[in-house]
Amino acid sequence: MLVALGAGAPYEQAEDSGFTYYTRYFTGPSRPAARGPWLMPLGTISLLTIGGDNDTWSVTVFTSSRDAPVKALRDSDCFTRVVRACPLQADWLDGRPITAVMPMAGVLDRYRRFAMDGAPIVTGLAAVGDAWACTNPSAGRGVSVGMVHAQLLRKTVRAHLDNPPGFAKACDDSTEQLVAPFYQNQIKADRARLAAMTALRDGRQWSPPDSVMGRLTAAASYDADVFRALMETVLCLALPEEVVERPRHKRTDRTIRLSRPAASPWPGPRSAPSAAHHMSLLHDKTKGHTPHPCSEISARG
Ligand SMILES: Cc1cc2nc3c(=O)[nH]c(=O)nc-3n(C[C@H](O)[C@H](O)[C@H](O)COP(=O)(O)OP(=O)(O)OC[C@H]3O[C@@H](n4cnc5c(N)ncnc54)[C@H](O)[C@@H]3O)c2cc1C
Repeated sequence: MLVALGAGAPYEQAEDSGFTYYTRYFTGPSRPAARGPWLMPLGTISLLTIGGDNDTWSVTVFTSSRDAPVKALRDSDCFTRVVRACPLQADWLDGRPITAVMPMAGVLDRYRRFAMDGAPIVTGLAAVGDAWACTNPSAGRGVSVGMVHAQLLRKTVRAHLDNPPGFAKACDDSTEQLVAPFYQNQIKADRARLAAMTALRDGRQWSPPDSVMGRLTAAASYDADVFRALMETVLCLALPEEVVERPRHKRTDRTIRLSRPAASPWPGPRSAPSAAHHMSLLHDKTKGHTPHPCSEISARG
């Protein structure tokens, strides 16, 4: 529409996030206890366990869209076997299913910018929230990003309402400075998770890249102050780069922990099925299922 009106086209990046989600909703008299984190990476899969309203909750397994054998999770028996084998999440199955297993794929990571070389391509238009940028939903913070952005818009309107070019430029500048880092950090985290899933599926070694977020997540397992700081970043109250600069995170012992990203930030005994066990759960031999040719390399990790 902007082009039809004679303005330039906005800059846009859009690509498939590369994940496929399998979700089932449940209800019951009480929501299961949270024994593990609500988002837990487990080798080639990740699990999401999320409470809802009206005594409902959801269990999601997500994985690389290229991991063909894991498509078997569409079958509710297979889904149940896999989740049941994850000790920290198994009791989230203890309810009455109110849906089938619902797959979701083709989710776009998309980012738009309405300025070129620092100059706005249009005035009087401000894209906020998902209309500006969105990522796949595993981080569960699109609403928080939208709220941060909406508050910024309010401030910008207050300061520049009588100056349309100034308003458009201020919108672009403040979005890039204060909101875009949340998007960029999420993209980095998602790319790293996808790389880990792919490496483990292919039977390759994988170590987490050194990143501020990786160090923060690792340290949060051991240190209550760092955990609270991590929550600030998850809820978009602060950027990871900001919280690690705070004096209390610079104490020697914490800095050591902050400097070691872990493949799995969750301490304790192994909390996922082994690769071989995972494959046997995906393929129910009682149904005479023929394993997919890739199956022997899937689910390693
Ligand atoms: C499966 C899934 C799970 C998610 N889980 C979470 C989560 O747990 N936590 C979280 O924070 N975020 C989550 N998100 C992301 C979150 O939903 C979005 O980031 C957030 O809703 C964006 O808000 P918004 O107001 O920018 O856009 P939207 O919520 O999409 O609102 C835009 C509204 O505009 C309306 N609209 C569109 N076109 C027109 C038109 N031409 N005229 C009039 N109205 C129009 C639409 O109908 C819609 O109501 C999830 C997203 C998905 C897809």
